[in-house]
Amino acid sequence: MNPFHKAGRFWRGNLHTHTTVSDGKLDPEHVCQFYQAAGYDFIALTDHFHPYFQWRLADGRPYQTDDFLVLTGAELHAPGLEFSDLWHLLAVGLPFDFAPLGEHEDGPQLAKRALDTGAFVAIAHPEFYHLSEGEARSLGDVHAIEIFNGTSIDHNDKPYGWALFDVLTARGHRYSACATDDAHFDPERNDALLGWVMVKSEQLTSDAILTALKAGDYYSSTGAEIYDLQVSREKITVHCSPAERVFVTGISYQALAVSGNGIRTAEFDLAKFKSPYARITVRDHLGRRAWSNVFWFESIG
Ligand SMILES: [Zn+2]
Ligand SMILES: [Zn+2]
Repeated sequence: MNPFHKAGRFWRGNLHTHTTVSDGKLDPEHVCQFYQAAGYDFIALTDHFHPYFQWRLADGRPYQTDDFLVLTGAELHAPGLEFSDLWHLLAVGLPFDFAPLGEHEDGPQLAKRALDTGAFVAIAHPEFYHLSEGEARSLGDVHAIEIFNGTSIDHNDKPYGWALFDVLTARGHRYSACATDDAHFDPERNDALLGWVMVKSEQLTSDAILTALKAGDYYSSTGAEIYDLQVSREKITVHCSPAERVFVTGISYQALAVSGNGIRTAEFDLAKFKSPYARITVRDHLGRRAWSNVFWFESIG
């Protein structure tokens, strides 16, 4: 079901955050205060789960309030990639007793173990470190791919994950697409408040947000907003914050677009759109985006 038509409201959150528990420069308390003051409803603390940092998970529970949720998580690492010494896997909603990497455990086994705890698991910044299509597929059914990773902008100018995401979607995989900061608060890089998710849920609780994330009931943003999406097999209507261009993107080069000054409503006739699925992008005059998750027409009545 279209998340825009489910009950509840949208909650703004950052799913990928480092603290002094690993290589972040702010401690968990100040990270939580920073995001709450910036108007976020929730964050996930996702420090590197690695022996160098004593396999610790940051505990943000003391900094939680009625209107600010802190999810437990980690960025999981295991050896065994072609172009990198370590996998980077985002796991949100991990239990505090999640066991360290086993002696012979590889990336897919680690992802499976995180999934088995009920965590939301995403492939972190694939473009940043040349994760290949085959390596991504070897993970099986993880939930999402980071399609925007803020810290990669100042790190190596490769913040996107759309190339991998679109190839895997064209092959029939049902990942959702998440934007994150991967914030470290290192003065060398600007990596906070750059990319976030807007999660549709009736409640701001760990269970409700994780359930919505796993169901793909969210959209991603670097500044633009989507207020409503109506999707049928014949037509897509988008209501959004003022935009200069709105896209419907499908398989390969299939796309429709409208442009204008301060577009708030965009309508697309799908008669000439030849794709089994579509995702929507809203771009404003400053280049900020909002990205929907994928709609598969076969599941639309
Ligand atoms: Zn990483
Ligand atoms: Zn990270």
